[in-house]
Amino acid sequence: SDVPQQAQQDIDAHALHEQVQYKNFSDLAGKVVFITGGASGIGRAMAEAFAVNGARLALLDINAGLLEKAQAELQATYPGIEVTTCVASITDEVAVENAVADVQALFGRIDVLLNNAGISMNKPTLELAPADWRRAIDINLNGAFYCAQSVGRRMVAQGSGVILNTASMYGTVAAPERAAYCASKAAVVMLTKVLAVEWAPSGLRVNALAPGYVQTALTDELVRTGRMDYDALIKRTPARRLGKTHEVATLALFLASDSAAYINGQAIVADGGWSTYSYI
Ligand code: NAD
Repeated sequence: SDVPQQAQQDIDAHALHEQVQYKNFSDLAGKVVFITGGASGIGRAMAEAFAVNGARLALLDINAGLLEKAQAELQATYPGIEVTTCVASITDEVAVENAVADVQALFGRIDVLLNNAGISMNKPTLELAPADWRRAIDINLNGAFYCAQSVGRRMVAQGSGVILNTASMYGTVAAPERAAYCASKAAVVMLTKVLAVEWAPSGLRVNALAPGYVQTALTDELVRTGRMDYDALIKRTPARRLGKTHEVATLALFLASDSAAYINGQAIVADGGWSTYSYI
C-alpha cells in the first residue's frame, strides 16, 4: 500500500485503543455530563475520561450503531455506571430540546455540556456549494448553539454549570480550502465568549477547546485513501505527531473541574505547536 510506514503504525496503534490512565478530578464524581458526538472520536474519549472520574453520562449522537456500541463498552468497563443515550441530530432544535429535557428528568440536573459534535468541510472555495456551506454552518455552529441554549437554560436556573464547545485551531487561524469549517469554528469561539460573559454572573463557565490535528477514524481514513499527506503533516507539526483523542479529553476534564474555576471565555489550543509555528 502507499500508506507511509509511520502512518500505518500510528493507525494500528490507534486501532488498539491504547489504554490511557486519566488523571483524577475528584469533584467530577457524580456530575451529570452531556456529550454531543459522544459515540466516536474525541467525544468517545471524553466519555471514557469522565466515566473514569465517576460521572454520570448522557451521550447524544446521530450514529445509532456507534452510540449503542459506546454505551455497551462503557457499561462493561465501568460496572454500575449510569449512561443514557439519545439518537438525534444537533441540527434539529426540537430533538435537542427533547433530549435535554429527558436527561434533566432522568438525572435531575446537567452539570457539564461537552458541545462536541461537528464535521469537517474541506473544499476549494470555488467548489464549495451552498449546500456544503450550509451543512457545515448548520452542524458546527447552529447545532452547537441549540445545545448550548437548551442546556444553558437549565444551568442558569440551577446557578451552576460548565459548557465546553469543541471548536478547532482552525477557529483561530486560517487554512486554505476550509472557508466553511474555519468560519463555523471561529463563530463557535465567539459564541463561547458571549455565553461566558453573559452567564458568568449566573455561575456558569463557558470555554472552547481548539484542537489541532487529532488522530480519529476521520483522519485515519484521510491517510488510508491518500487524501492527507501524512509525512508533510508530521513535518509541519512541531510535536512531530498528531494529537491523541485522550489529550483533548484530558483538557476537557481539567476545564470542567473546579481546578479551572477562574478560567472563562477562553479558547484553549491543543495542537502540538502547530498554530504557533511560522512554517517555511
Ligand atoms: P468524529 O467524526 O470521530 O466524531 C464526531 C461525532 O459526531 C460522530 O460520532 C458523529 O456521528 C457525530 N455527529 C456528526 N454530526 C452530528 C449531528 N448532526 N448530530 C449529532 N451528532 C453528530 O470526529 P472528531 O474528530 O472526534 O470530531 C469531534 C469534534 O472535534 C468536531 O467538532 C470537530 O470539528 C472537532 N475537531 C476535530 C479535529 C480532528 O483532527 N479530529 C481537530 C479539531 C477539531
